[in-house]
Amino acid sequence: MGPGGSSGAADGSSVDLRRDGQAAVEWVARYLETMRDLPVRAQVEPGDVRDRLPASPPETAEPFSAILRDLDEVIVPGTTHWNHPRFFAYFAITGSEPGILAELLSAAFNVNAMLWRTGPAATELEELVLDWLRQLLALPKRLHGHIEDTASTSTLAALAAGRDLRPGGVVLCSEHAHSSVDKDCRILGLELRKIPADAEYRLRPDALEDALAAEETAAVVATVGTTSSTSVDPVPAIADLCERYGAWLHVDAAYAGSAMVCEELRWAWEGIERADSLVVNPHKWLFTPVDCSVLYTRRPDVLREAFSLLPEYLRTNVDRVTNLMDYGPALGRRFRALKLWTVIRCYGREGLQALIREHVRLARLFASWVEAEPGWQVVAPVPFSVVCFRRDGSDEENEALMERVNATGEVYLSHTRLDDRFVMRLAIGNARTTEADVARAWELLRSA
Ligand SMILES: *Cc1c(COP(=O)(O)O)cnc(C)c1O
Repeated sequence: MGPGGSSGAADGSSVDLRRDGQAAVEWVARYLETMRDLPVRAQVEPGDVRDRLPASPPETAEPFSAILRDLDEVIVPGTTHWNHPRFFAYFAITGSEPGILAELLSAAFNVNAMLWRTGPAATELEELVLDWLRQLLALPKRLHGHIEDTASTSTLAALAAGRDLRPGGVVLCSEHAHSSVDKDCRILGLELRKIPADAEYRLRPDALEDALAAEETAAVVATVGTTSSTSVDPVPAIADLCERYGAWLHVDAAYAGSAMVCEELRWAWEGIERADSLVVNPHKWLFTPVDCSVLYTRRPDVLREAFSLLPEYLRTNVDRVTNLMDYGPALGRRFRALKLWTVIRCYGREGLQALIREHVRLARLFASWVEAEPGWQVVAPVPFSVVCFRRDGSDEENEALMERVNATGEVYLSHTRLDDRFVMRLAIGNARTTEADVARAWELLRSA
């Protein structure tokens, strides 16, 4: 008998991988199947979860079954279920079944692909799968791609490259750009200026030109699919200006980039070939579990210049290989390519397109219900799968209505501010969401 009275594994833990592994997979299958019956947003108060767990670690090994029991009793009730088909808050996402299994496999390898030498397959698979993704998204050839944890890190890397070309220059983005741009500038010690947007929440090129003429600019961030309303900045006009003023153009397509698997949505990619870098998050709308963010650049030399550092203990005797640590802030690199490769293979281009198309259809359908209802308005265009809407009345009334709906536990919506008004957002992005789920959200909103 090993520690804790179990049979004992070769790694000294209590786990019996075959027996406990089957139980874990069974647990996952049941969790996914019964998810609809769970409240979407955790119905706990701060501290509830900690209060129910021991304050000190165990002296001796516990059986793995104790973990599954605690998942049921403490962790599930204390979790906001992002994988729930009626999760409509922020950006709805999917930990798909291929993605879940691939995470298990990737942990088994536990490679650290900082150098080609330390992870040849992980490095080459990352290059290959990002070339596949480039093809799926109809991006130009000869882009260099690498995977980061989040768009926050991808944009950090892009802005560092822009800064190195123009030290001392400022960064410009629209007032609707994601807050990660603010945070990245703060980390990099860069000044950020916000450019006003037009009536449909798109960056105004005339205002951008004024800002470029006024001050030395290192980089401009254009957003394809803003976080509040999913508006699309006019990339061709922005690219013209970046070329004229010599600024790095970074396109933040963290959410909407995945939708470019569908030809009919590629109007949003106009001018993309002129971006110096762009970020797409497969963990947002490409059914890949968190975390997986892709940074593409047509100037990998500049990125490498910003991040390449080779201490003696990392030198290897192989040349002419890609060492992915040279393209971003982190040294250690998880084998994230495995889950993206698995997701793409287990859906295929057609499967990915079908899901994205269904989400866009459901968003438009929901918007049509809101528009047809007296006293309700859709307040922004719906180019993708997010609907911004409100009911006649004050901000406080709208906020209270949303809170009542969320308190039912049946659905979860979030909000934003547009034109200084409180607006609700319904974001569709989970692979298991059906028309009935969206209809239920509308029913709850109307009756609240
Ligand atoms: C979600 C989002 C981000 C931030 O993504 P993380 O991966 O969480 O850092 C950045 N930009 C846009 C447009 C987003 O929608």
